[in-house]
Amino acid sequence: MDKCIYCGSNNIEKGISVGSGNFKTGLRHVNFLVPQVEWFYADLCKDCGSVRIYVKETNRNWD
Ligand SMILES: [Zn+2]
Repeated sequence: MDKCIYCGSNNIEKGISVGSGNFKTGLRHVNFLVPQVEWFYADLCKDCGSVRIYVKETNRNWD
């Protein structure tokens, strides 16, 4: 996002990798017996602190 949807600020930190470091998360799914993890990314508004979470690859079988 270019502007915060909550407060309208454009003081945004984009593309923070939520799935690395000491806060580890992700959606696991199985593709031909190979478990994979879809990493989450976040945009953070530095003014109000709200966060938008998204993934870069949406064309997956999320079952
Ligand atoms: Zn904001």
